[in-house]
Amino acid sequence: MLKGTGVSAGVAQGTAFVVACGYRSAVPQRNIRASEVNGERARFDGAVARADAELVKLQNDVRERIGASQAEIFGAQRLVLKDRSLRDRVLRAIEEKRVNLEASVSEVFDQYTRSFEGAADGYLRERASDINDVRRRVLSALAEQAGRAGPKIPDGAIVVSDELSPSVTARLELDHVRAFVTERGNKFSHSSILARSLGTPAVAGVAGASAKIKTGDRIIVDGVAGVVFVNPDSSIEREYDRLAADLRSSKEELQHLVDLSSVTLDGTTLPLLANVNKFSDTEAAFLYNADGIGLYRTEFTFTIRSAFPTEEEQYEFLERAAERMHPRKLVFRLVDLGGDKILPYFPLPPSRNPSLAERGIRLLLRHLEVLKPQLRAFLRVSARHPISILLPVVVGLEDVRQARQIVRQVQDELSAEGKPFNPAVPIGAMIEVPSAALMARTLAKDADFLSLGTNDLVQYVLAADREDESTAPYYQPLHPAVLRLIQSVVEGARSAGRELAICGEMAGDPLHTALLLGLGLRELSVAPGQMLEVKNAIRRTRLEDARQLARTALDLGSASEVEALVNEQRPKTDRRRRGSEPRNGGSDE
Ligand code: PEP
Ligand code: MG
Repeated sequence: MLKGTGVSAGVAQGTAFVVACGYRSAVPQRNIRASEVNGERARFDGAVARADAELVKLQNDVRERIGASQAEIFGAQRLVLKDRSLRDRVLRAIEEKRVNLEASVSEVFDQYTRSFEGAADGYLRERASDINDVRRRVLSALAEQAGRAGPKIPDGAIVVSDELSPSVTARLELDHVRAFVTERGNKFSHSSILARSLGTPAVAGVAGASAKIKTGDRIIVDGVAGVVFVNPDSSIEREYDRLAADLRSSKEELQHLVDLSSVTLDGTTLPLLANVNKFSDTEAAFLYNADGIGLYRTEFTFTIRSAFPTEEEQYEFLERAAERMHPRKLVFRLVDLGGDKILPYFPLPPSRNPSLAERGIRLLLRHLEVLKPQLRAFLRVSARHPISILLPVVVGLEDVRQARQIVRQVQDELSAEGKPFNPAVPIGAMIEVPSAALMARTLAKDADFLSLGTNDLVQYVLAADREDESTAPYYQPLHPAVLRLIQSVVEGARSAGRELAICGEMAGDPLHTALLLGLGLRELSVAPGQMLEVKNAIRRTRLEDARQLARTALDLGSASEVEALVNEQRPKTDRRRRGSEPRNGGSDE
C-alpha cells in the first residue's frame, strides 16, 4: 500500500496508466522490447534538437522583452540540455532498464534535480529548477514529435504521474480517467481542485508513485483515506467494491436536497453558489440548482490553447454560460496567471519563489494585451446578463483603482464602437493575501464586493506552499490565525456595507460549514460536486450554535484543537458519510 493525501474523495479501481508531465502535455511511460532500443536513441536526438530550438527562440524573445540577464537563464538551460553525462545516463537507462525514452528522461532528470536540490551551495540549488524546466521541455518535445496533444488514455484508466500541472491535466482525455495518483501536489493544487470538480477520486503526495507503479498494474485509489493499493489481493478488492457502493448510495441519499433551499435550522436562507472552471461545469451547477456562479475561473480557456484566446473565443463560452445560468448571478474572475499558473506561450521571468512573484491583477495591469480583450468579452456579456467581475490576487487599493481605470477605458472603447454593456457592472476584489484581508474595510470602499479566496490566503498566512506535499502538514485552513483573519474580513465588509462571499475550497468542506457561518459568512461558493453536502450541513446548523462554535474556536491555540472541536460537534451520521469512521473494526488508514 502506498500512502499519500486524499485530495478528491471517492474510490476507484482500474488499470494504471503511468505518464510523465511535460509543459503542455503528459507522455506515457512503459517498458520496451530490445528491438526498440535504437529507435528510442534516435528519438532523443530529435527531441533535444526541438527543445534547443525553442530555448533559442525564448532566449531571443526574453532578451528583447525583459532583458539580457533574464535571457541568460535560457542559455544556462541549453547547456544542461547538451550535457554529455546526462545524455549518457538517459541512453543507458533505456538500454539497461528497457524503459521508453520518456520514462528514462523523466527518471534521470529527476535524479539530477534531486541531487542539485540537496546541494549546500545556493547557486547549485537554484540549478535544480533549471534542470526540471529542461526535463519538461524535452518531454513536451517528445509529445509533439509523436504528433498529438496528449497521450491516448485507455478508457477507465487510472492516471499515475510525477505531477499534473493545470495545463497538462486540462489536455488529458478526462472522461477516460477513472482516478489520479500523483507524487507531487496537495489538496489545494489546481489539479486537485479540477479532480474534485470532475468528481474523480485522486490521491496526491505519493512518493515514488511513477516508479513503483507500472503501466498495466491493477490499482485501487482511495481518495477518502489517501491510499493506493497496487495489485491488491481479492479481499481488498471486495472491501472496496462495497465501499464504492456505499459512497454511491450516500450521494443518492442527498439527491432530495437538490430542490430544497439552503436554509439554516433557525430559518435564515443563504445563497449557495458554484465554483466552475470551464463552460461544461455550468451544466453541473445548473443541475445542482446553484443560486448562481460565485467563481468562474477563466484559466481553463487559456491553458488548453497554444496561444492567448481571442476576445471572440472568450465571449462565446462566457455568453453561453451566462445564458444557461440567467437570471442568476455569475462572477467572472479575470485570468489569474503567475504563481503556479504558467502558460507555455507566456514565459514569465524565472523566480526563486513563484508565489511571491508578480501574479494576478498586478501582472494583468502590466499586460494590457491580455487584460483588455478579456474585459471586453466580460463587458459584452454584461449587456444582457447580471455578471460581476472579480479581480484576482488583489494586494492593495491601487490594484482596484487601476483596474477600474482600465475598465473605464474599455467601456469608452466599446461605447465608441456602439457595443452595449452594463456601465455599472460590479467589480469585486479577491481577498486572498494577508494585506488585502487586513485592509478589507478600506478595499471595500473601492470594490463593489469581496470574495474570500482561502486557498491562497492560507498559504500566505501560514507560509506553507499550497502546491507542495512537504508543506501539506502546515497548510491548515482551520488554524486560528486564518479564522481570526476571516473574522476581521467579515467585519470589514460588514462595516463598509459590502457583500462578502467565500469561494476558497475551505467553503466546500461540510466539516467547516457551521464554523464559517458562525464567523459571519453568509454566501458560500463551492464546487458543484460538494453542493449537496454543504447544503445538508447548512440545513443542520443553528446560527446561534454556530456563533458559539466560532467564539470557542477563535480562542483555541492550534488547528488540531479546532479540528477536534468541529469534529466533536458533527453529527455521527455525517462522519459515516464522509468515510472517515473506521468500518468493521477499522484499518490503519
Ligand atoms: C483561492 O485562492 O482561494 C481561490 C479561490 O483562487 P484559486 O484557487 O484559483 O487560486
Ligand atoms: Mg487564488
